[in-house]
Amino acid sequence: MPLTATTNSGARVFAPELERKNQDFFCPFCKAPMSFVDATLKIKHFRHMVKTSCNYETETEEHKNYKYAVYKKLLAIGNENVFIEHPVGKLIADVYWKRSGEPDIAFEIQATNYSISKYEEKIAYYVFRNIVVVYIFVGEDFCNEIRPNVYSLKEIEKRIFHEKKYRDSVIGCYLDGESITIPLFSPKFAKGGDGYCTSRFIMMRALTENMPLNGYLQHVNRYVVARPYFPECSHEAIAYEKHAGKITRYKVVCSVCRKFVKWLPNDEARKLGFDI
Ligand SMILES: [Zn+2]
Ligand SMILES: [Zn+2]
Repeated sequence: MPLTATTNSGARVFAPELERKNQDFFCPFCKAPMSFVDATLKIKHFRHMVKTSCNYETETEEHKNYKYAVYKKLLAIGNENVFIEHPVGKLIADVYWKRSGEPDIAFEIQATNYSISKYEEKIAYYVFRNIVVVYIFVGEDFCNEIRPNVYSLKEIEKRIFHEKKYRDSVIGCYLDGESITIPLFSPKFAKGGDGYCTSRFIMMRALTENMPLNGYLQHVNRYVVARPYFPECSHEAIAYEKHAGKITRYKVVCSVCRKFVKWLPNDEARKLGFDI
């Protein structure tokens, strides 16, 4: 359930602070018509008018609440360039923090798990754009404690917290209420087996950090990407990018990693409707 929508004029509006309620609203993600839900017990939001498979409609209540909480908290600690449900190319970041002189940060509030390939597609897309990704895991799907201090981790938790596969480009934490946990896991040794379990982990309490959400956001702001992650790209789709220079011209690039493919001939650019 999105908190933002676009209007006929293309402006983006924010449900909790909506001023004009009687106008048309559209989903920023799939463009379908939406209605405003003037909730009093829950956070005001938008809803698709017609039943849809749009990613936004399946968002849980928990996801929406935490997304709003992170957004408000970032504003409250004095950051101006903070946006909720912010478009980044083909993606929409739950919360996006534009910083000057430092890489931007995309916050992904993760309440439900999905396939690792879907996570990695998103991560690569952000990382190719020099955006730091912060995964904030919330709810029952994650940090699954199966016995006291023994956790069964999802693939994404394993790759972020244990393998550190995305090096410094992606960081993560758990959020419960106002309290953040940055865990350090160690694989659980399986007695009688052939070594370590692949999905059972022990949380190393002494090396696990706890802090309030406030403190975590400040920690994220000071965070430096010393060892960036270099994702692979199979260059499957192309996009066009305007070249910033004295003469207007366009280049054909990979739509994911933005690798240069070729210059777009001017007549083709005109055919595509670009102003040149
Ligand atoms: Zn939609
Ligand atoms: Zn590519």
